[in-house]
Amino acid sequence: MTIYTAPVADTMFVLRHVLRIHERKDLPGFDEDLLDVSASALAMVGEFCADVLQPLNAVADLDGCAQAADGTVVTPPGFVDAYRRFAQGGWGGLAIPADQGGGGMPLVLAQACHEYVWSANPSFAMYASNLGHVRILMKHGTEEQQRAYIPQLASGEWTGAMGLTEPAAGSDLSLVRTVATPREDGTYAVNGGKIFTSGGEHDLTDNIIHFVLARLPGAPEGTRGLSMFLVPKMLLDDQGRPAVRNGVAASRVEHKMGLRGSATCQMNYDDATGFLVGEPHRGLAAMFVLMNELRITASTVGVGVAEVAYQNAAAYAKERHQGRSPIAGRNGDGAADPILEQPDVRRLLLTVGSFAEAARALLLWTSLQSDIAARSDDPDERHAAGRRLALFTPVVKGTLPDFSFESTVYAQLIFGGHGYMTETGVDQFIRDVRMAAFGEGVTAIQADDLVRRKIGIDSGRVVEQALADIEDDVQAAESTGQVDSASLMAMRTGLGHLREATEWISAADPAAAAAGGVHYLYLFGRVALGWMWLREAAAAARLRAAGEQSPALERKDALARFYLSRLPIETARHLDLMRAESESVLSLPAAAF
Ligand SMILES: Cc1cc2nc3c(=O)[nH]c(=O)nc-3n(C[C@H](O)[C@H](O)[C@H](O)COP(=O)(O)OP(=O)(O)OC[C@H]3O[C@@H](n4cnc5c(N)ncnc54)[C@H](O)[C@@H]3O)c2cc1C
Repeated sequence: MTIYTAPVADTMFVLRHVLRIHERKDLPGFDEDLLDVSASALAMVGEFCADVLQPLNAVADLDGCAQAADGTVVTPPGFVDAYRRFAQGGWGGLAIPADQGGGGMPLVLAQACHEYVWSANPSFAMYASNLGHVRILMKHGTEEQQRAYIPQLASGEWTGAMGLTEPAAGSDLSLVRTVATPREDGTYAVNGGKIFTSGGEHDLTDNIIHFVLARLPGAPEGTRGLSMFLVPKMLLDDQGRPAVRNGVAASRVEHKMGLRGSATCQMNYDDATGFLVGEPHRGLAAMFVLMNELRITASTVGVGVAEVAYQNAAAYAKERHQGRSPIAGRNGDGAADPILEQPDVRRLLLTVGSFAEAARALLLWTSLQSDIAARSDDPDERHAAGRRLALFTPVVKGTLPDFSFESTVYAQLIFGGHGYMTETGVDQFIRDVRMAAFGEGVTAIQADDLVRRKIGIDSGRVVEQALADIEDDVQAAESTGQVDSASLMAMRTGLGHLREATEWISAADPAAAAAGGVHYLYLFGRVALGWMWLREAAAAARLRAAGEQSPALERKDALARFYLSRLPIETARHLDLMRAESESVLSLPAAAF
């Protein structure tokens, strides 16, 4: 049986003291009372997650999704009711603009709320947001499509699904073979098969809106020949109500290692009626509206699952008594000490906790860039924030899920052999979070995006600016004496390694850059997390200078020092491995494997 309490105080610390969202009143939606609204929204969502969603998490893992003979899919017990209440609360559409029927919240706040859903019940969270689908329609849909589908997606009355992957087309979507043939009435007959479609079929809503990549007859080969089609499970009548079953059905629900309550479906499109969204052959560009959204979502999985793994491991470490602690003064009455008094258990807990809290700050910082890019009335600021978002999207997607997976394994170790037994529930964290490394492009694809596209944006000026921003924060923390000198030195060294790595990989030949790409990505991610710790430690110091003393501030200092003390060791390792492996992995000919 696992536990979960939403970390509202820590989220508020990040929003108020690190990102200072209340100072951005110039942005539409960042109103005077934003901090109050944030505190109450976080408390409300947090309570729902702890009371309703978390108890269903083990059920989701145990029962999974079942497929009936008619192809329909039944979600785990309790999901239908929980989804109804979740949608009624408007929590799936928090960041969808209010004039489209959503909550109109800044993304930074919506992501903060969604983190709690991912902690409480990752399978449920897979159905929980239609933001990307709505954004596609707002940007590329016709007025008729917007009228017919946005309100129900925004309210959660219907859910959206994404059909990209096919048996022979995964990372490489140029191999997509699904076809769409124009009909005389202006619709398209979609034929083909997709695999791994999350939420492709389920019983939570009476319609599911599939966004599908397919090829028109005579379309060019490659990704430039892909168009996007909206394929509803149920075709609508004149009143816009689901009326006639469309030719799209799940032929199978996958058996997965985790996320078993999320219906991952093999879909057949058999003369299904589709509606072209956007321009012919420009489907992949349109789909990136959704994919970029989901890339940030995959990072949220990493934060949410690391947090819940930490909470459970910390609670266990306090109650489990084994052996005597070597920490001076801890051996009292001769009985065994709590394992929390074992330095190695502390090491594991600090590793997980210092990742989870910095990851939360980094995710929310990234989401804030999205808000600034969408809402600022200054075109230069909008442009700069959009560039920062583009640069950091592969960094957060490529690193937070992987580092979170690592964290859940550390958390499992704290449970000893009990962590290997399914009744503790820790194994589910490991299995559930693993998926985030695959969806929306595997880690290597994120590294490829970062190295081949993102660090080259504006001839490298965007990455240079990002490094300069980090350097500015180090200098500010130094000049105000807010952060201890060892942490500052560590941050400078890590940043230096990132600079060196950026220069090296920018100049490397394509094969060497591809071989070293994941190390470069990890190095970037570790520095970005260190940057967040620097900002958190500086914020804690400001509060102390203003007279505030609390265990929460002491904890921030300790976690910052722990993370930053390791940073240069980790970054040096990635830098060395990036250079070394770029040669060694290419030395063995393919035939010798
Ligand atoms: C639980 C789950 C849910 C999913 N939901 C959806 C969904 O809703 N809709 C959807 O369309 N898809 C979905 N997917 C599919 C997911 O996006 C793909 O699995 C992913 O893009 C990888 O494709 P693939 O599995 O075919 O792996 P492949 O592309 O075959 O890759 C295999 C391995 O080869 C390597 N590799 C491949 N190409 C490169 C490259 N260019 N550079 C470096 N290494 C490379 C990587 O190591 C990779 O791990 C889901 C997947 C899972 C597991």
